[in-house]
Amino acid sequence: MVYDLHTHSTFSDGTTSPAANAAMAAAAGLVGLALTDHDTMDGWPEAAAACAEHGLDFVPGVELSTEYEERGIHLLGYWVDPEHPALVTECRRLRAERDRRADAMVANLARLGVDISIDDVRAQAAGAPVGRPHLAAVMVGKGLVADADEAFDQYLADGGPAYEPKRALAPVDGVALIRAAGGTAVLAHPGLGTMDTPLSTVLLDQLRDAGLKGVEADHCGHEPAVRDYWRAAARRRGMSVTGSSDFHGTHKESKIGDATTSVSVVEELRRRAATAGDGLG
Ligand code: AMP
Ligand code: ZN
Ligand code: FE
Ligand code: FE
Repeated sequence: MVYDLHTHSTFSDGTTSPAANAAMAAAAGLVGLALTDHDTMDGWPEAAAACAEHGLDFVPGVELSTEYEERGIHLLGYWVDPEHPALVTECRRLRAERDRRADAMVANLARLGVDISIDDVRAQAAGAPVGRPHLAAVMVGKGLVADADEAFDQYLADGGPAYEPKRALAPVDGVALIRAAGGTAVLAHPGLGTMDTPLSTVLLDQLRDAGLKGVEADHCGHEPAVRDYWRAAARRRGMSVTGSSDFHGTHKESKIGDATTSVSVVEELRRRAATAGDGLG
């Protein structure tokens, strides 16, 4: 009786449709599935319909980009109102910001002798908000790197030579936005993409004070010791602990259901959605 609370589709930088994700979740024996594309809720209708067909509980989500000390911090917002004006405006702004940033990263790559065209990157994204996996896929397709890992390790990783930060909200403001939109905010993969310095628990205190309700300690990309660290950090602060695959189709190795969240934690988070009166504090 478990959920996968973090998956991507072609509505952002995944390579599978929301309907395909639902079919994979059913095949993996899950009882529920979240779709959490980067900075968009556009995939929800397809995901909701496919989940209903497979008898899965659909958890509508979004992975909101925020920024803290030139580092990208991702917030998962569950059960937000997809028409909340401020949230819709921020997602639209982030899409434009991603376009600007993709241009800048293509220029950074050119300076490093890696020639890809922004048109190829746009074609790869196919109308979705442009992300680094789209650039990596173009680099792989052109034979400029062996695989996506090499594209990130050598060029695109946070702080890498071709990296360009997104201009985004501070994480505390992102949590406030998710709450204003009636959702429950969870900190995504705190142990990933943190360059050499682990994310500070000072930030976690600030996020809790802003209304963060959970921490994705059991993320597929976290080593066991990292999971233990963030699980304990979340529990000490009275927050829920979630787990998920962060499935990206062929852009990442994890498969739907590789890490999961129990039904009781999902119900706890659902009760903690701002619209439900925030009963658990
Ligand atoms: P963006 O939204 O453009 O900043 O890209 C974020 C996405 O890039 C994440 O969701 C991951 O799919 C991918 N990503 C980030 N860092 C790495 C890395 N070091 N190796 C592989 N993929 C990564
Ligand atoms: Zn992604
Ligand atoms: Fe993420
Ligand atoms: Fe993700």
